Amino acid sequence: MTTQRLLVLNAGSSSIKFAVYERAPDPGALVTGQVENITAAARLIMRPADGKAETIALGQTDHVAALQEIMTHAVIPTGDGAIAGVGHRIAHGGLEFTEPTRIDETVVAKLKTLEPLAPLHQPHNLAAVAASHRVFPDAVQIACFDTAFHRGHPWVNDTFAIPRSYYDKGVRRYGFHGLSYDYVTDKLQSIAPDIATGRVIIAHLGNGASMCAVKDGRSIASTMGFSALDGLPMGTRCGQLDPGVLLYLLEHEGMSTAEITALLYKESGLKGISCLSNDMRELEASSDPAAKEAIDYFVFRIRREVGAMAAVLGGIDAIVFCGGIGENSATIRANVCEDMDWLGLQVDASANAKNALRINAGTVPILVIPTDEERVIARALVAALPSD
Ligand code: AMP
Repeated sequence: MTTQRLLVLNAGSSSIKFAVYERAPDPGALVTGQVENITAAARLIMRPADGKAETIALGQTDHVAALQEIMTHAVIPTGDGAIAGVGHRIAHGGLEFTEPTRIDETVVAKLKTLEPLAPLHQPHNLAAVAASHRVFPDAVQIACFDTAFHRGHPWVNDTFAIPRSYYDKGVRRYGFHGLSYDYVTDKLQSIAPDIATGRVIIAHLGNGASMCAVKDGRSIASTMGFSALDGLPMGTRCGQLDPGVLLYLLEHEGMSTAEITALLYKESGLKGISCLSNDMRELEASSDPAAKEAIDYFVFRIRREVGAMAAVLGGIDAIVFCGGIGENSATIRANVCEDMDWLGLQVDASANAKNALRINAGTVPILVIPTDEERVIARALVAALPSD
């Protein structure tokens, strides 16, 4: 009997990240990787779970061709099974989609109407859905949403203080990175069930960054709101910004909405402040004062949110770091927790330097949990597939 494979896709404007799984109750990835630089000199990077990473030059390509290359190089070599299901990471599920959802034409049409709410993610996510239907016409296709984890959050964290009619039209605080928070809260249940039912702050610190206040496994508050711009500063995104700045840019700098969009999504954050890079490793290695200021701003905003979330939760039982920076930067974790004894937070320098699972020296657990959004999607896919 052939083993069936599952494919998880996370598509951006010029890249498709993927993970291939065997169909199993809680599958581990056989291969992960990405096609980068689609539309120019694309390359396929593959990281087999049990082998050496490999890069293949592809030349100019598009989403359909990129998926065919993934099929040829990454899926077939892992075994002789066909793709039984494809799971898509979709940025925005709006008000309606709060669970993994089987994709059909009606669902795609509804998700398209949400494109203005996530202009830099949703159109590319949906381009991959269309390409995937062409390349894998017989596979079950599901959508998993970054907003879904937050949909049950309290009304006060769902609204803005603008006239109510906008709330009714869907101008709300949706929150993102939900698949990451889902993974971490699930992981807590197995490694620290006492913490999983408590008051936890999760800091997802990567190129995109946000924080979530979680109580008994449910989102209470998050730093991202209507769009993936709000909250913490990110690699190239601004984070929280006084709306008066937007008015100023429109009225006095004469900027168009397209220019402002590019400024806030692509030229701001760590890159904008440092004038150097969006990459935390480069900033940490730099002696440029502007690089240090960018890091200082990043840490300052995280610390503010720790305080705010502790207030919202009525105290904290644990803080969890994840994402590329959260999982790997001992410096950022130490700086975030510095002088936070008043919250019971104290870092054990030696455990922190090793990126250990538990890095606290004080009473409140400080955990480092590598996140795995793809795995959350793979699990949802397994649940969605019809039984043999
Ligand atoms: P992500 O978007 O989750 O892949 O995270 C990307 C970010 O993680 C980039 O800013 C990287 O510089 C950062 N990062 C990865 N490894 C390290 C490390 N060892 N130290 C500091 N930052 C890191």
